[in-house]
Amino acid sequence: MPELPEVETVRRGLEHHVVGRTVAAATVLHPRAVRRHLAGSADFEAVMAGRLIGAARRRGKYMWLSVGEDALLAHLGMSGQFLIGHPDRPIGPHVRARFTFTDGGSDLRFTDQRTFGHIALVPGGAELPAPIAHIAPDPLEPAFDEAALTARLRLRRTGIKRALLDQSLISGVGNIYADESLWRARLHWARPTETLTRPAVATLLDAVRDVLTEALKAGGTSFDALYINVNGESGYFDRSLAVYGREDQPCPRCGAPVRRDPFMNRSSYSCPRCQPRPRRGRW
Ligand SMILES: [Zn+2]
Repeated sequence: MPELPEVETVRRGLEHHVVGRTVAAATVLHPRAVRRHLAGSADFEAVMAGRLIGAARRRGKYMWLSVGEDALLAHLGMSGQFLIGHPDRPIGPHVRARFTFTDGGSDLRFTDQRTFGHIALVPGGAELPAPIAHIAPDPLEPAFDEAALTARLRLRRTGIKRALLDQSLISGVGNIYADESLWRARLHWARPTETLTRPAVATLLDAVRDVLTEALKAGGTSFDALYINVNGESGYFDRSLAVYGREDQPCPRCGAPVRRDPFMNRSSYSCPRCQPRPRRGRW
């Protein structure tokens, strides 16, 4: 599942390849891809034609292309990809929407094998689309307010990993990067947020930023081979994961076997020695 670094990698790819170009035609090949565009496929195709793409922006795992005052908002879901390539190449079975450009160059294809992703035209959304205005800034955005987050964490009374995954508190941190950041900060995932000191929160946020930045440099993480960046290359950050997906393998810091706990229908990976269980955890 694409997380913030993967989405940012795709955003940068779109910035490089489509910003400044004008859409000649938009074609919806599967209506599910535009299910959040309530006026339907034909309307989507009509409103996208002739649009100049002004900027590629992101908040958390959402990204959007500004088109005039409006936004072409996209979420990659589990398996969404944007692919750029020669406009005459064959159209694969998972292409859900296609955009050609007036310059006749490369086209843009939204592909999505599992169809959890979506794209929509949001009127007036160029700066911040309304459907995602409730999502908190992510730690790589200039708008991110560390002092405000620290205060809200102490009021929240939940486990720290649940807080990291709460998009209304901090966006863009998914399961993988939460586990990696908590390991770096030596915090157990069930640690109650109200017991975290200000320096502990600062250390954790530094770890979150470091993990996301390193993943970004590596082009994101790829686990199921479904995620591919805008040019079709897989990320490779997974080679440098310390705990995520490494049950029973040695902790890179102390050598203790990595522990896996069930967590919200998924898993949490941590080191039993570096991240001791809290006496009163919030599970
Ligand atoms: Zn350890």
